[in-house]
Amino acid sequence: MPSQRELFYQHLAQTTPFPLALEIERAEGIYLYGNDGKRYMDLISGIAVSNVGHCNAEVIKAIREQSEKYLHLMVYGEYVQGPQVELATLLCSVLPKQLNSVYFTGSGAEAIEGAMKLAKRYTGRTEIISFKDAYHGSTQGALSVMGNEKLKQAYRPLLPDCRIADIYKIPTITKQTACVIIETIQGEAGVRQFSKEFLQTLRKRCNETGTLLILDEIQCAFGRTGKLFAFEHYGIEPDILCLAKSLGGGMPLGAFIAPHEIMQSLSHNPMLGHITTFGGHPVCCAAGLAALKFLMREKHLIEDANQKGELIKQLLSHPAIKEVRGKGLMLAVEFSDFETLKKIIDRCIQQGVITDWFLFCDNAMRIAPPLIITKEEIRQACAVILDSIEHR
Ligand code: PLP
Repeated sequence: MPSQRELFYQHLAQTTPFPLALEIERAEGIYLYGNDGKRYMDLISGIAVSNVGHCNAEVIKAIREQSEKYLHLMVYGEYVQGPQVELATLLCSVLPKQLNSVYFTGSGAEAIEGAMKLAKRYTGRTEIISFKDAYHGSTQGALSVMGNEKLKQAYRPLLPDCRIADIYKIPTITKQTACVIIETIQGEAGVRQFSKEFLQTLRKRCNETGTLLILDEIQCAFGRTGKLFAFEHYGIEPDILCLAKSLGGGMPLGAFIAPHEIMQSLSHNPMLGHITTFGGHPVCCAAGLAALKFLMREKHLIEDANQKGELIKQLLSHPAIKEVRGKGLMLAVEFSDFETLKKIIDRCIQQGVITDWFLFCDNAMRIAPPLIITKEEIRQACAVILDSIEHR
């Protein structure tokens, strides 16, 4: 009888030749439990998904209750489904008031696809500008605005009229530009932040040319950076906001959110501008609603993310560490090279602490734990990281 691990290699499509291949039996809070009984502290939250912790009791209760009422009923947008309506209403109540129309999707990449289509339809233009080292997803539209050649060149031709701009330099935005798409804080670039001045100038330039500004907060939203949404740090507001990852509280859910006046371009002349079967699945929306209510009630988790991040920065002091950068609990710990980092990560995992690196920055360690991590747990995690640096 082959083991689960053997069957995993035989029958599950692999994305790399070296998957982590940890066998996890259950998860709770900030911990994953292996089927050998080993406990792992999760410092990456399944890449910024489990902000409210794994198997958050309120999220599980909402999933259980909704799954006993109904699962999928109909393609997105036809029936009035309570969980979708309640989550959209709550989201709109915590966003700037013009962002009042939510389109739910099944993933982050689908939210990006929808947002780019919406910008093209609304403006009647085709040019899309994105930034170097941006990651917006792996579907072909999202790939077209990816700011890294290595992962996209094998799939050309991609979307025409997509331009990748240098970071830190305001690109030429004209009346031909449908939208500028930018991660408010770049994730896979290794947690790279733009200045307030840069983002505000970008906003201004978009206003001057009638270009829509799309903020991708798929990785950085929901309290991770010390604010509910990262754009709150910079005094700007998007025309279209993309969310996913932690939006579903651990269930697959994405969304693009825009003013009603813009969003209605997808439902008129011709209608059905974006269609999805599973977008806004009622169980996922119920989970997302519970997660957001939890976060709104436990607001201190959002505020504490800053202090916790500062504690990590302070604790992770070692000659092998070149820099610890980021905001709140969205951090990158930079080492000299990938080989050094890989040894440290492998040793951390052996010692029961899970971290990884970034798609476009393979010499930096990702630290993005569930926001419910305590200061004591942070001290334990940092002690393991420092020990792993010493014994690499
Ligand atoms: N945008 C950002 C900033 C992301 O980090 C990701 C995923 O890592 C995506 C978009 C794509 O989301 P998904 O993997 O759900 O398609």
